[in-house]
Amino acid sequence: MVGCMNIIRADVLGFCGGVRRAVTSAQKALDENKAGTVYTLGPLIHNPVALNELASRGLKVLVPSAIPALQKNDTVLIRAHGVPPSMESDLRRHCDTVINATCPLVTQSQKRAADFASQGYTIVFAGDKNHGEVVGIQGYAEEAARAHGLVCDFRLIRSADEAAALCTSGAFKAPGGAPQKIVLFSQTTFSIKEWDAICAVLKENVPAIEVYRTICPATHERQDALVRLCAQVDGVIIIGGKNSSNTNRLFATAQKRCRRAALIETADEIPADFYDLQTVGITAGASTPDNVIAAVEKRLSQGR
Ligand code: SF4
Repeated sequence: MVGCMNIIRADVLGFCGGVRRAVTSAQKALDENKAGTVYTLGPLIHNPVALNELASRGLKVLVPSAIPALQKNDTVLIRAHGVPPSMESDLRRHCDTVINATCPLVTQSQKRAADFASQGYTIVFAGDKNHGEVVGIQGYAEEAARAHGLVCDFRLIRSADEAAALCTSGAFKAPGGAPQKIVLFSQTTFSIKEWDAICAVLKENVPAIEVYRTICPATHERQDALVRLCAQVDGVIIIGGKNSSNTNRLFATAQKRCRRAALIETADEIPADFYDLQTVGITAGASTPDNVIAAVEKRLSQGR
C-alpha cells in the first residue's frame, strides 16, 4: 500500500452558502414530508452524487409543464437561482407547500430589478440568455413595471461588444430628450473580466448610468484558493460534477497552474498515479457535498 505524504485542502472549497442552504432545505423537506411527494423545480444542483443521494430519499425533479398535475399535499422546492414571481404563484396555486430556497444574493437582485423597474428605469443586465437566474430576475422586473402601469425595458447583454452595440442603437435616448434612468447589474456568476469591460463601455457612453456589482464572490474565492494551492502541491484533484461549469473552470485553472490535475466525481475515480505523488491538493466545486470531499481525502490518505 502506498499513501500520499501530504494532502492539502484548498482553504475555500465545496458548497457555497446558497447551495448549502438549498440542499439543507431539501433534506429538511424530505425529513418532514408525511403524505405527498417532495419535488425540486429542475435539478437542485449540478452534482450527480448529491442528486442520487437525494433521489434515493425520494426527492423528485419537477418540470414546469408538470406543475398542473401537482397534488395539494406535495411539496415543491425552488432552487438557489430562483424563478419568476408568476411561476412561484403558479406553484402555490397547485400545492400547499412551496419552499423558496432562492439564494439571498439572488433575492437581492430580484428586489433590485423590481424596485428599478417600478421607477421606470431601463435595466441593462449582464447575463446568459435563458439562464434560470436571469429569467427569474427579468420576471420580477416585468411584474413590478406592470404593477406601476409601465412597460419594462430590460436589456440583456453578454459582452462589451453587445454593450457598445446597445449604445449606438439609440436604446438610451429618451423621447423628447428627457434624462433617462439607466441601471446596470449582472447575474451572480457573471465573468469578472467581461463585467469590467462592459462597465467601461457603458460608463464612457452613458455617464449617468447607475452601476451595482452583483457578482457573487463564491466562484472567484474558490479560484483564488486554488491558485494558492497549486503553488504548494505536485498534483491537484478537483472534485465535482462534470456538468458543473464552476467545477470545470477550476479544472481549467489547475491544468494551467499545476503539472498534474484531475477532475473526478467520486473517490473511485482517483487516477492511480496520484498515489505516487508527494503532495496532493484537493478542491471542489460549489455544488460538491462535504461527504464526497471527505471520502476522496480518506481514500488518498489510505493509499491505493
Ligand atoms: Fe448564491 Fe453565490 Fe452560491 Fe449562486 S454561487 S447560490 S449566488 S452563494
